[in-house]
Amino acid sequence: MNKDYLIMTIGDKKNIALIAHDGKKADMITWCEDNKEILQKHFLCGTGTTARMITDRTGLPVRGYNSGPLGGDQQVGAKIVEGKIDMVIFFSDPLTSQPHDPDVKALLRIAQVYDIPIANNKATADFLIQSALMDQPYDHKIINFKENINNRATTL
Ligand code: PGA
Repeated sequence: MNKDYLIMTIGDKKNIALIAHDGKKADMITWCEDNKEILQKHFLCGTGTTARMITDRTGLPVRGYNSGPLGGDQQVGAKIVEGKIDMVIFFSDPLTSQPHDPDVKALLRIAQVYDIPIANNKATADFLIQSALMDQPYDHKIINFKENINNRATTL
C-alpha cells in the first residue's frame, strides 16, 4: 500500500453537518422533516442558525457551531480535517452573494481534499440520503497527513 494515502472508515452511523444559507433555510427544514426517520439514526451538527432552526422546527438534535458568517463554516471544515465530520448537506444559495464566500469555498475545497460526500442542492442531498451506503461502513482513501509532513520536511 502506498504510504502517501490512508484508508479511513466512515462508520455506519454518520456525523452529518447541515448548513443552509438564509434563502434556503425553509427548504432545509422541509428536507430534514421529510428525511427525519433516516437522519435520526445519525449524529447531526451544523452552523449555528441552521442547527437551531432544525431542532426548533423538527425536534431533531443538531449540535450547533457558530453562525456561518461568524466562522461556522470554518468550524465544520476543521472538524472534517480532524475526521469528526463524515458528510455535509449544504443548501447554498447560488442567487445571493454571501459575505463569507471565501469560507464557503474553503469548506468545499477541504471536503474535496478529505473525500467527504457533500451535497450542495436538494437533488444531490436526496440521492445521498437514499444511498445504501448510509447504513454501512465506507472505506475511503485520504492523504496521509503525517507522511505528507515527513515528505515535505525532508525534501523542501
Ligand atoms: P447559519 O450559517 O446557519 O448560522 O445561518 C449558514 C451559512 O450562511 O453558512
